[in-house]
Formats: sequence, C-alpha cells, structure tokens
Amino acid sequence: MNKYIEATQNGLVHTYNQFPIVLEKGEGVYLYDTEGKKYLDFAAGYAVSSLGYGNQELNDALKAQIDQLFHTSNLYYHTTCGKAAEDLKRVTGMDRIFFTNSGGEAVEGTLKAARKYAYKRKTGRYEFIAMKESFHGRSFGAVSVTGHDAYREPFEPLVPGVSFAEYNNLESVKALVTDKTCAIILEPLQGEGGINVASEEFMKGIRKLCDEEGILMICDEVQCGMGRTGSMFAWQSYGIKPDIMSMAKAIGSGIPVGAFAMTEEVAQYSLEPGDHGTTYGGNPLACTAVSKTVEIFERENLVSHVQEIGAYLSEQLDILVQESDCVTARKGKGLMQGIQVTKPTGEIANAALQEGLLVIGAGADVIRFVPPLIIEKEHVDEMIEKLKKVL
Ligand code: PLP
Repeated sequence: MNKYIEATQNGLVHTYNQFPIVLEKGEGVYLYDTEGKKYLDFAAGYAVSSLGYGNQELNDALKAQIDQLFHTSNLYYHTTCGKAAEDLKRVTGMDRIFFTNSGGEAVEGTLKAARKYAYKRKTGRYEFIAMKESFHGRSFGAVSVTGHDAYREPFEPLVPGVSFAEYNNLESVKALVTDKTCAIILEPLQGEGGINVASEEFMKGIRKLCDEEGILMICDEVQCGMGRTGSMFAWQSYGIKPDIMSMAKAIGSGIPVGAFAMTEEVAQYSLEPGDHGTTYGGNPLACTAVSKTVEIFERENLVSHVQEIGAYLSEQLDILVQESDCVTARKGKGLMQGIQVTKPTGEIANAALQEGLLVIGAGADVIRFVPPLIIEKEHVDEMIEKLKKVL
C-alpha cells in the first residue's frame, strides 16, 4: 500500500471515505498525484478552490503576510481584519461581519445571532425551521438544522426546537410556523442534498413570511456563495435579502476561513462582547486571503465568467442527458451543477478518477460539478469527453 495512505489510515480517526490517490501538487484547474498522474478538477476541494491552484498573486500576498504577521487573536486590532470586513460588506450588501474558521462555525454563529436577537428583544422565540435534505455542517447547532437523519441520529438529542419543511414547498414551511419561531434557515441552492435550486416563488415567499411573522431569514451560502451560481451570492439573484447569512469555502480560496454577516437592524439587538468568539477567527492570514480573493474576483469579473461558462456547461450537460441512458436530468446553475444518474454515484466517481477526472456525489443519485471558477470551455469539453467514457 502507498506509504502516505497507510500513514493516514493508521493515524486518523476513520471518518472519511477517501479516494485512493495521494495528491501532491496543483496547477490551474489540474491536480497531480505522487505518481505524476494528472486530474482535471471538477470538485475544487468541495467547492473551495475557485481561483484554481497556483494563483501567483494570491500566493504572493499570503507569503508576504506570513512574513509580516499571521496571528494576533482578537484581543487586538490588526491591519487586515477591517479591510476584509469592508470587502465582504461590499460584496454581500450586509452591514456587520463576524469571521470564523469554517462553514460549520459560520452557521453556528448565524443560529446564535438569531437566538440572541430574540433574547434581547424578549420575543420568547427560540425555534428554527430548516429544510429537509439540507446540509449545514457538523457541529451540534449546525447538525441540528441539517435535514438528513444519517447526519443527526447518532448524536441525538440535538438542539431542541428545530423542525424540517419540504424544500421549495412554501405551504410546508408555513405549516411549521409558531409564535415561537425565531428563524428560518435555508441554502438558496442545496449542495450536499443533491444540487436543488430554490425557486423564486419559494425564496420570495419565505422572505414575505418572515416579514409578516417577525421571523429572521438566514441564508447559508457556504457552498453556493462567492460567485459559484452566477451571482456573487445566490440570494442576490432572487431580489430579496436575508437578515443573516453564512459563507466560507471559496471566500478564502482554500485558507480556512468563514464568516457570518447580518444587517444593522439585526446587529443592534444581537451579539455583544462576551457572547461569541474564536481565537483564530479573522486572523491576518485568513483576512489577507479574503481580501485578495475578493480583489481578484472583482477585477477579473469572475461572476460574469461563471455566467458564460455555466451556460456552456448547461448546454453540454443537456446534450449528455439526451444522449446517455443512465443520465436522467441536469440540475443546478452556474458552476454548481449536477446530473441525476441511475448508476451508483460512487462507482461513477471512482471510474472518473481512473480517467483523470475529479467529481463528487451529492444526495443519493447526483454527480456534482463544482470546478474552480476559472475553467474555460475547453475544460468543460475535456470533462464531458472523460465523463462519456465513464458513463
Ligand atoms: N453549509 C453548507 C451549505 C455546506 O455545504 C457545508 C459544507 O459542505 C457547511 C455548511 C459546513 O462547512 P465546513 O465543512 O467548512 O464546516
């Protein structure tokens, strides 16, 4: 057995079903293993590496920050945090940012922010409505609002007061509302749940319901955010605005960083000194990664690039649906898409690996495509060619 795989298997708690390759280096949209085999990356480390690998400008900024200062804790101000917050405020349109180290922590923060708001306003509200098939992370709060038994059952009892509605079914959400409902949390495009896009009627309906009932709307943009769906954040394409949102993954291009954001209306009644914190969150390295990522996104206009290449990917996947017996539908938008398949997704992903293509499953029967956002049409063609062989 490969020495790296053996060391990993002997050393780590066995919580991941890993593909049997050892990656060593990345360049653009390709990864290379220790044998020198090249892989076209349509997984981007779970929708993280949007700028691909080896972006010199990003790497230089990170190296310079390492030489200067990369940890202070939040006891002190430092030169990078305020700038990164300003950058995220500009691209989200939200008013207040809290930096975390991961997506799960960002979601955790959204839930605490909503609970604190209810506490301070003395509304007596504490319940959350979440969606079936949702995924929000692995910490207790995040898993408590994750709508999938496999993630929840081994860890019950979880945070009380959570109920689950059908995604894209407004009536099922309304049926769960009580005078104790504090917030409704949803992904505008469900990733792990099988690449399910929220309908406009659903998103607008939830916003209206929240306004009428005095409930906070939380959008989890950890996976679908930061340009991936063809708008900077997916909720922005619906003409609504959440009260609180989470983000992570692509905002730091692979440096571990997440954030949650809220409007000023929420912030004035929400978290205060002592309520929430993290030793590492928003450290200078993470904040440099955020600011540089945002700068590159804006300068290169990556969002319109995603619209263009996403439309091409849709066309090519639609053709695949027509041509291939085992592909029944295309799902998703932008560069967060998937195909519904009748063969086991694990078998397809493993066969793709042999062909030098990295893809991942989503939900029960979907193969997901979340490549670096810098891909070009030729990479879509290469992916389709490899996929056809696999299917
Ligand atoms: N929320 C969503 C929508 C996600 O897709 C994920 C991870 O895939 C998370 C939260 C958790 O993020 P992390 O793995 O960084 O804790």
